Amino acid sequence: MNTTIVLATHNEGKVSELKQMVAERIICPTNHTITIISAKELGIPDPVEDGTTFEENALLKARFVAQRTGYLSIADDSGLIVDILGKAPGILSARWSGQHGNDHANMDLLLAQLEDIPDNVRTAHFECCAALVDPQHSREKVEYGRMNGHLAHTPRGTQGFGYDPIFIPDEQPTQNTTSACILWDTKPLTCAQLSTDQKNQISHRGHAMRALLDDLQNMLFN
Ligand code: IMP
Repeated sequence: MNTTIVLATHNEGKVSELKQMVAERIICPTNHTITIISAKELGIPDPVEDGTTFEENALLKARFVAQRTGYLSIADDSGLIVDILGKAPGILSARWSGQHGNDHANMDLLLAQLEDIPDNVRTAHFECCAALVDPQHSREKVEYGRMNGHLAHTPRGTQGFGYDPIFIPDEQPTQNTTSACILWDTKPLTCAQLSTDQKNQISHRGHAMRALLDDLQNMLFN
Protein backbone atom coordinates (compact mmCIF):
# COMPACT_ATOMS: atom_id res chain seq x y z
CA MET A 1 0.00 0.00 0.00
CA ASN A 2 1.10 3.57 -0.66
CA THR A 3 0.17 6.89 0.95
CA THR A 4 0.75 10.03 -1.09
CA ILE A 5 1.40 13.27 0.78
CA VAL A 6 1.49 16.61 -1.01
CA LEU A 7 3.58 19.40 0.46
CA ALA A 8 1.69 22.63 -0.21
CA THR A 9 4.69 24.73 -1.12
CA HIS A 10 6.78 25.96 -4.04
CA ASN A 11 9.83 26.44 -1.81
CA GLU A 12 12.47 23.83 -2.81
CA GLY A 13 14.31 24.25 0.51
CA LYS A 14 11.19 23.37 2.50
CA VAL A 15 10.48 20.38 0.24
CA SER A 16 13.89 18.78 0.78
CA GLU A 17 13.84 19.61 4.51
CA LEU A 18 10.41 18.00 4.90
CA LYS A 19 11.25 14.96 2.80
CA GLN A 20 14.22 14.35 5.09
CA MET A 21 12.09 14.78 8.22
CA VAL A 22 9.40 12.38 6.96
CA ALA A 23 12.06 9.78 6.11
CA GLU A 24 13.59 10.13 9.59
CA ARG A 25 10.40 10.35 11.64
CA ILE A 26 7.66 8.21 10.04
CA ILE A 27 7.95 4.49 10.67
CA CYS A 28 6.04 2.58 7.99
CA PRO A 29 4.85 -1.00 8.43
CA THR A 30 6.31 -3.46 5.94
CA ASN A 31 4.70 -3.26 2.50
CA HIS A 32 3.66 0.35 3.09
CA THR A 33 5.37 3.21 1.29
CA ILE A 34 5.00 6.97 1.48
CA THR A 35 5.35 9.13 -1.61
CA ILE A 36 6.04 12.80 -1.06
CA ILE A 37 5.38 15.28 -3.81
CA SER A 38 5.13 19.06 -3.80
CA ALA A 39 2.39 21.35 -5.09
CA LYS A 40 4.99 22.80 -7.45
CA GLU A 41 5.73 19.38 -8.96
CA LEU A 42 1.98 18.89 -9.52
CA GLY A 43 1.64 22.32 -11.14
CA ILE A 44 -0.73 23.60 -8.42
CA PRO A 45 -0.30 27.35 -7.90
CA ASP A 46 0.11 29.01 -4.50
CA PRO A 47 -3.22 30.24 -3.12
CA VAL A 48 -3.67 33.86 -2.02
CA GLU A 49 -2.49 33.95 1.60
CA ASP A 50 -5.16 36.26 2.99
CA GLY A 51 -5.43 34.75 6.46
CA THR A 52 -4.86 36.97 9.48
CA THR A 53 -2.89 34.40 11.51
CA PHE A 54 -0.20 31.79 10.81
CA GLU A 55 -2.82 29.11 11.52
CA GLU A 56 -5.32 30.48 9.01
CA ASN A 57 -2.65 30.72 6.32
CA ALA A 58 -1.24 27.23 6.99
CA LEU A 59 -4.73 25.72 6.87
CA LEU A 60 -5.80 27.57 3.75
CA LYS A 61 -2.66 26.40 1.91
CA ALA A 62 -3.13 22.75 3.01
CA ARG A 63 -6.88 22.79 2.20
CA PHE A 64 -6.27 24.37 -1.21
CA VAL A 65 -3.97 21.50 -2.24
CA ALA A 66 -6.00 18.74 -0.54
CA GLN A 67 -9.18 19.84 -2.35
CA ARG A 68 -7.41 19.86 -5.72
CA THR A 69 -5.62 16.51 -5.36
CA GLY A 70 -7.66 14.42 -2.92
CA TYR A 71 -4.38 13.59 -1.16
CA LEU A 72 -3.19 14.24 2.38
CA SER A 73 -1.62 17.66 2.38
CA ILE A 74 0.87 19.42 4.65
CA ALA A 75 1.55 23.17 4.78
CA ASP A 76 3.24 25.58 7.12
CA ASP A 77 3.22 29.30 7.69
CA SER A 78 5.70 31.20 9.77
CA GLY A 79 7.18 34.58 10.51
CA LEU A 80 9.24 36.77 12.78
CA ILE A 81 7.78 38.69 15.71
CA VAL A 82 9.84 41.56 17.08
CA ASP A 83 8.77 42.57 20.58
CA ILE A 84 9.47 46.29 20.25
CA LEU A 85 7.47 46.38 16.99
CA GLY A 86 4.38 44.77 18.52
CA LYS A 87 3.46 41.72 16.42
CA ALA A 88 5.39 42.95 13.37
CA PRO A 89 6.48 41.80 10.88
CA GLY A 90 4.41 38.68 11.80
CA ILE A 91 2.33 37.39 8.89
CA LEU A 92 3.88 40.16 6.75
CA SER A 93 7.43 38.79 7.25
CA ALA A 94 7.87 37.68 3.63
CA ARG A 95 6.78 41.08 2.28
CA TRP A 96 7.86 43.52 5.01
CA SER A 97 9.65 45.80 2.55
CA GLY A 98 6.77 45.63 0.09
CA GLN A 99 8.63 43.21 -2.19
CA HIS A 100 7.38 39.65 -1.59
CA GLY A 101 10.24 37.24 -0.89
CA ASN A 102 13.02 39.85 -1.14
CA ASP A 103 14.99 38.67 1.90
CA HIS A 104 17.65 41.38 1.63
CA ALA A 105 15.20 44.25 1.35
CA ASN A 106 13.10 42.87 4.22
CA MET A 107 16.13 42.46 6.49
CA ASP A 108 17.58 45.88 5.58
CA LEU A 109 14.29 47.61 6.39
CA LEU A 110 14.02 45.83 9.74
CA LEU A 111 17.61 46.73 10.64
CA ALA A 112 16.94 50.37 9.76
CA GLN A 113 13.79 50.37 11.91
CA LEU A 114 15.80 49.01 14.85
CA GLU A 115 18.87 51.17 14.28
CA ASP A 116 18.93 52.91 17.67
CA ILE A 117 17.43 50.07 19.65
CA PRO A 118 19.85 48.63 22.25
CA ASP A 119 20.59 44.92 22.66
CA ASN A 120 18.42 44.33 25.73
CA VAL A 121 15.25 45.32 23.85
CA ARG A 122 16.03 43.62 20.53
CA THR A 123 14.20 40.45 21.62
CA ALA A 124 12.23 38.56 18.98
CA HIS A 125 10.91 35.11 18.15
CA PHE A 126 9.91 33.04 15.16
CA GLU A 127 6.55 31.26 15.14
CA CYS A 128 5.40 28.47 12.86
CA CYS A 129 2.05 26.78 12.40
CA ALA A 130 2.09 23.46 10.54
CA ALA A 131 -1.17 22.04 9.19
CA LEU A 132 -2.21 18.61 7.95
CA VAL A 133 -5.43 18.09 5.95
CA ASP A 134 -6.77 14.61 5.18
CA PRO A 135 -9.59 15.14 2.65
CA GLN A 136 -10.59 11.48 2.49
CA HIS A 137 -11.46 11.29 6.19
CA SER A 138 -12.29 15.01 6.68
CA ARG A 139 -9.58 15.33 9.32
CA GLU A 140 -7.38 18.34 10.10
CA LYS A 141 -4.56 18.85 12.57
CA VAL A 142 -2.42 21.88 13.43
CA GLU A 143 0.75 22.14 15.50
CA TYR A 144 2.90 25.10 16.57
CA GLY A 145 6.56 25.80 17.10
CA ARG A 146 8.54 28.75 18.42
CA MET A 147 12.19 29.84 18.54
CA ASN A 148 13.20 32.65 20.91
CA GLY A 149 16.14 34.96 20.38
CA HIS A 150 17.22 38.52 19.66
CA LEU A 151 18.30 40.53 16.65
CA ALA A 152 21.89 41.37 15.75
CA HIS A 153 22.89 44.86 14.55
CA THR A 154 24.56 43.52 11.40
CA PRO A 155 24.04 40.31 9.42
CA ARG A 156 26.38 37.35 10.03
CA GLY A 157 26.52 34.00 8.18
CA THR A 158 25.54 32.69 4.79
CA GLN A 159 23.25 29.71 5.50
CA GLY A 160 19.46 29.62 5.64
CA PHE A 161 17.11 32.26 4.33
CA GLY A 162 14.94 35.21 5.35
CA TYR A 163 15.99 36.88 8.60
CA ASP A 164 18.47 34.12 9.54
CA PRO A 165 21.60 36.36 9.27
CA ILE A 166 20.28 38.71 11.97
CA PHE A 167 18.46 36.24 14.25
CA ILE A 168 20.47 35.01 17.25
CA PRO A 169 18.63 32.07 18.84
CA ASP A 170 18.71 31.80 22.64
CA GLU A 171 19.42 28.10 22.27
CA GLN A 172 22.95 27.94 20.91
CA PRO A 173 24.68 24.74 19.75
CA THR A 174 26.85 23.40 22.57
CA GLN A 175 29.71 22.42 20.31
CA ASN A 176 30.82 24.61 17.49
CA THR A 177 30.94 21.88 14.87
CA THR A 178 29.55 23.73 11.87
CA SER A 179 31.92 24.52 9.08
CA ALA A 180 29.75 27.53 8.31
CA CYS A 181 30.75 29.45 11.41
CA ILE A 182 33.94 31.31 12.16
CA LEU A 183 35.71 29.55 15.02
CA TRP A 184 37.42 32.65 16.39
CA ASP A 185 34.20 34.63 16.46
CA THR A 186 33.11 34.66 20.11
CA LYS A 187 29.77 36.33 19.39
CA PRO A 188 26.70 34.08 19.71
CA LEU A 189 25.79 32.52 16.37
CA THR A 190 23.01 33.71 14.12
CA CYS A 191 20.79 31.11 12.44
CA ALA A 192 22.73 31.77 9.23
CA GLN A 193 25.86 30.45 10.99
CA LEU A 194 24.21 27.13 11.86
CA SER A 195 24.09 24.02 9.70
CA THR A 196 20.63 22.96 8.47
CA ASP A 197 20.57 20.13 11.02
CA GLN A 198 21.54 22.43 13.90
CA LYS A 199 18.84 24.91 12.91
CA ASN A 200 16.16 22.22 12.45
CA GLN A 201 16.75 20.91 15.96
CA ILE A 202 15.89 24.26 17.57
CA SER A 203 13.74 26.02 15.00
CA HIS A 204 10.05 26.94 15.11
CA ARG A 205 9.50 24.91 11.91
CA GLY A 206 11.43 21.92 13.25
CA HIS A 207 9.33 21.84 16.44
CA ALA A 208 5.99 22.28 14.62
CA MET A 209 6.80 19.75 11.89
CA ARG A 210 8.06 17.07 14.27
CA ALA A 211 4.82 17.37 16.25
CA LEU A 212 2.75 17.22 13.05
CA LEU A 213 4.64 14.19 11.77
CA ASP A 214 3.94 12.42 15.07
CA ASP A 215 0.23 13.17 14.50
CA LEU A 216 0.55 11.77 10.97
CA GLN A 217 2.21 8.61 12.27
CA ASN A 218 -0.73 8.10 14.68
CA MET A 219 -3.32 8.88 11.99
CA LEU A 220 -1.84 6.45 9.51
CA PHE A 221 -0.55 3.56 11.54
CA ASN A 222 -1.79 3.55 15.18
P1 IMP B 1 6.97 31.08 5.40
O1 IMP B 1 5.56 31.32 5.71
O2 IMP B 1 7.55 29.94 6.19
O3 IMP B 1 7.26 30.96 3.96
O4 IMP B 1 7.80 32.32 5.95
C1 IMP B 1 7.42 33.68 5.72
C2 IMP B 1 8.61 34.56 5.93
O5 IMP B 1 9.01 34.53 7.31
C3 IMP B 1 9.86 34.16 5.15
O6 IMP B 1 9.85 34.72 3.87
C4 IMP B 1 10.96 34.77 6.01
O7 IMP B 1 11.09 36.14 5.74
C5 IMP B 1 10.41 34.60 7.41
N1 IMP B 1 10.87 33.33 8.01
C6 IMP B 1 10.12 32.26 8.34
N2 IMP B 1 10.88 31.29 8.86
C7 IMP B 1 12.14 31.76 8.86
C8 IMP B 1 13.38 31.17 9.27
O8 IMP B 1 13.49 30.03 9.71
N3 IMP B 1 14.46 31.97 9.11
C9 IMP B 1 14.40 33.23 8.62
N4 IMP B 1 13.29 33.80 8.20
C10 IMP B 1 12.14 33.06 8.32
